[in-house]
Parts: sequence; C-alpha cells; structure tokens
Amino acid sequence: CGIVGVVGNKHARDILMQGLEKLEYRGYDSAGIFVTNQDQNAKLIKSVGRIANLREKIGIEMAGTAGIGHTRWATHGKPSETNAHPHTSTDGRFVLVHNGVIENYLEIKNEYLAGDAFNGQTDTEVAVHLIAKLAETENFSTLEAFKKALEIIEGSYAFALMDATEPDVIYVAKNKSPLLIGLGDGYNMVCSDAMAMIRETSEFMEIHDHELVVLTKDAVEIHDLEGKILSRDSYTAELDL
Ligand code: GLU
Repeated sequence: CGIVGVVGNKHARDILMQGLEKLEYRGYDSAGIFVTNQDQNAKLIKSVGRIANLREKIGIEMAGTAGIGHTRWATHGKPSETNAHPHTSTDGRFVLVHNGVIENYLEIKNEYLAGDAFNGQTDTEVAVHLIAKLAETENFSTLEAFKKALEIIEGSYAFALMDATEPDVIYVAKNKSPLLIGLGDGYNMVCSDAMAMIRETSEFMEIHDHELVVLTKDAVEIHDLEGKILSRDSYTAELDL
C-alpha cells in the first residue's frame, strides 16, 4: 500500500500513475487517483485490482497539475471500488488518501458524525467526514480542521488531504507510517517511498510523526501540532533507477 501526491507545473495524472506503479511491490488490492486544476475541474477514479485496471479507466481528458493517488491494502472494509481511496466528504470538498489504521474510528463516528451517511466501511471515510464536520461546524480553515482531526484521531496514518476549493495545496501528516516530501523545480511531491519519486527528483525532505505539512508548488511549510512553523533542511539522495 502507498501514497503519492504532486502539486505544481507537471501533468499530475502521469506522475501519480508512474508513482503508483513504483509502489506496486508493496502489495495492494485496489487503487485510485484524484486530479484537479486551477479551474477546480476535478476528477476521481478508482478501481479494484491492478494499476493497469485503473489506467484503463482513466481517460485522456484527466488534465490537472495537482493530485493524490493511493494503493490500498484493506484493513477495514472489503476490497471494493467503494472502499478504495481517495475518500471524500459528503459534499465532495475534502479528498483524502490514507495508509494505516485509525483505532478509534467507531468512537469518532458515534461522537462526531451521528447522522452522516457513509458509502463504504473504511476507517478512512470516517476521517475525511470528521475533517469536513470540523471545518463546517467550527468554521475552521482546512489547516485548522485537519490539525484538530489529528488531535482526535488515534492510530497509525500517512495522510494526504486535498480541499477542492484550494487546488494548489496538499495537506500531509504522518504517524508511524512512512511518508516523505520530494522537492522539484516548480513542483513538489509527497510519497510513501523515495523510490517512487526518483524519476522526478533526487531532493527529499523528511517529515516526522505529529507534524502537519502544507505543500504547494514552491513551498513546504512544516507545522507542529502547537501551530509552530519548523524549519528543516532537505537532502540529496542519488538512488539507482
Ligand atoms: N485502513 C485503511 C483502509 O482499510 C487504509 C489501508 C491501507 O493502508 O491501505 O482502507
């Protein structure tokens, strides 16, 4: 299972699909990508089985310069197109991919999301509904809602979140699941594995557990959960293709 995301001046669909193919070795039962652009003309496509199945469903018209992709290894909910990621909030505004397990997803569902209708059975769908609920009821920005959700969520996660109204930002966080940033010229990436980014970049930046990263095409802003902005050096790694 794995995550890949890109924002900037590249053809997102191609970068995401190449990234997912590089992540195939980690094992998965389904996959999906979300791609958007400045006109907020977004598309979300998911498929069970091989990445090749997903590739077949993706039309040439899937243009966009930002997006997130996922290969799923089901832990909550059977492998199916509905349970495949990305998952969205009911209104479609928030789009989330996740690796890991949210231990308290049932408590979250009961405490914060009574009355919400869910499409599938995943813990991840609960997380994206929680972010939407916090944004709506507390009038939080996406960053604030994501941060608050991370304070509530218990378990392991690598998350990449997009807000359809901000097509040039990817929000990222991790806890006990791998995730790192790849830096490019006019674009930035996030991925579970450096190997899946080396066609695009050899410059990487680590992220640590309980940090929250705001990724745009030319900036990587790392926050701690107290809201402090941290500075971090990137490093160059020449990996063999
Ligand atoms: N727990 C999530 C699910 O079952 C994520 C699984 C994964 O790491 O791929 O959908």
